[in-house]
Amino acid sequence: METGKRVIIIGGGVAGSLLAKSIQFHAYVTLIDPDDETQDMGKEIVPFGFNFVWTEYRKKMKEYFEIPWACLRAMVEPPFAERTLINHAEYLTNAKIIVSSAVNVTDTEVFTADGHQIVYDYLVIATGHSDPVPNSFSLAENEKIKSARSILIVGGGPTGVELAGEIAVDFPDKKLTLVHKGTRLMEFIGAKASDKALKWLKSKNVEVKLEQSVDLNSAVDGGQHRIYQTSLGETIEADCHFLCVGKPLATAWLRETVLKNDLDHQGRIKVDEYLRVKGQDNIFAIGDITDVPEIKQGFLAHKQAEMVAKNLKLTMEAGTECMNRMDTYKPHLALAIVSLGRKEAVAQLPFMTMSGRIPGIIKSGDLFVGKTRKQMGLNP
Ligand SMILES: Cc1cc2nc3c(=O)[nH]c(=O)nc-3n(C[C@H](O)[C@H](O)[C@H](O)COP(=O)(O)OP(=O)(O)OC[C@H]3O[C@@H](n4cnc5c(N)ncnc54)[C@H](O)[C@@H]3O)c2cc1C
Repeated sequence: METGKRVIIIGGGVAGSLLAKSIQFHAYVTLIDPDDETQDMGKEIVPFGFNFVWTEYRKKMKEYFEIPWACLRAMVEPPFAERTLINHAEYLTNAKIIVSSAVNVTDTEVFTADGHQIVYDYLVIATGHSDPVPNSFSLAENEKIKSARSILIVGGGPTGVELAGEIAVDFPDKKLTLVHKGTRLMEFIGAKASDKALKWLKSKNVEVKLEQSVDLNSAVDGGQHRIYQTSLGETIEADCHFLCVGKPLATAWLRETVLKNDLDHQGRIKVDEYLRVKGQDNIFAIGDITDVPEIKQGFLAHKQAEMVAKNLKLTMEAGTECMNRMDTYKPHLALAIVSLGRKEAVAQLPFMTMSGRIPGIIKSGDLFVGKTRKQMGLNP
C-alpha cells in the first residue's frame, strides 16, 4: 500500500468485487456487502419468487460473491454452485470486509445497518440491484423442479428465458409455461433476438403467453395442481411457479443522503465520463446503477471497475494533476448472450443476432464461470 488513502467500496457484486481486488494493495480498502440477512431494502421483494432454504454450504459462506449469470444452472444442477460462489476472503487478502448494508453516506463517511461509521477519501458505489443475486443453490429449489410435473415461469426477461431453457433441457418431460406481460420476450435486446428465443422455447414445447400477466395471489388450489389466472382470463395449471421479474436498482437508500440529487427519475446514479458521480471529485459509481446509456451487463461492469481502478491508482499517486492521463468511459454497443440450456444460446451482437450452437459454445457450457474465477485470481 503506497498512499494510505482510504477507499470504501459499497457493494461486493460483479463490479465492486473486481475493483476491491484490483486496488487492495494501493489503498486501505473497505468492502461493504450484505448477506441476505443484513440486506434490509430488498426484504419485501421475493427475489425470483424462490423460497430460500439455506444449505449448509451457504451457511459457511456468508461473506461471498455469487456469479449472477451462472446462478440458474445451480437450480437444475446444485453442485454447480460450488464454483459460482466466491468467498470475498478468497480474493481479498488486504482489505476490510463489512458484512452489512450501507444505509447512509455523507461527504466524508459511510454508515452501515450494523452500526459502522467509516471515513473515506474515495468512495465507490456499486450496489447493482436491490436484492442479492438469486441464491439459486438451494437444494429445495432443485427438489421443487424435480418433483413438479408442470411449472409456471412468470416473466420473460433474461432470467425467465434462461430458467425456462435450463429446465426445458434438463427436464424435457416437465410441462413448462412462461407468461410475459410484454409484447415480446427480453425487450432489452432486439426484436430478432427475441423471436429466436421464442422459436427455440416453442421447439422445446414451452408454452409462451405474451401480453399477459399472472396475479399470483389469486392462484387457487386445484387438487393436484395450483390454478393460475392470467390477465386475459386464461387459466394455467401448474404444480409450482417461479417469479422472474426485474428487480429495482439498489439506490433507494441514497434518496435521503447527500447524493439525493444525483439520482435520475429511474433511480440511476448520474455519472461523468470518469464514472464519478456528477459534481463530485472523490465519489464514483460503477455497474448496473449508473446512467451510462448501454445495456447493463456484467462484462461492462467489469470494464468500468477496471477503468476506475486504474484512475484511482493514478489519482492516489499523483493527485488531480493527473486528470489528463485518466481514462474516460465510452458507452458500448449492444452485446448480450442469453443461454438456452447447456448447448445453445441467442446472441445480440452490435449489428446482428445469432442463435444456436455458436453463441452456445461461448456461454452456455460453463456460463463464463471459469473465466470469471480466473479474473478474480482463482482456479477456474
Ligand atoms: C440470470 C442473469 C444472467 C445474466 N447474464 C449475463 C451475461 O451472460 N453476461 C453479462 O455480462 N451479464 C449478465 N448478467 C448481468 C449481470 O449479472 C449484471 O450486469 C451485473 O451483476 C451487474 O454488476 P453490479 O456489480 O453492478 O451489481 P451486482 O452484481 O448486482 O452487485 C451488487 C452488490 O451490491 C450489494 N448491495 C446492494 N445494496 C447494498 C447496500 N445498500 N450496501 C452494500 N451493498 C449493497 C448486493 O448485495 C450485491 O452484492 C446476467 C444477470 C442475470 C440475473
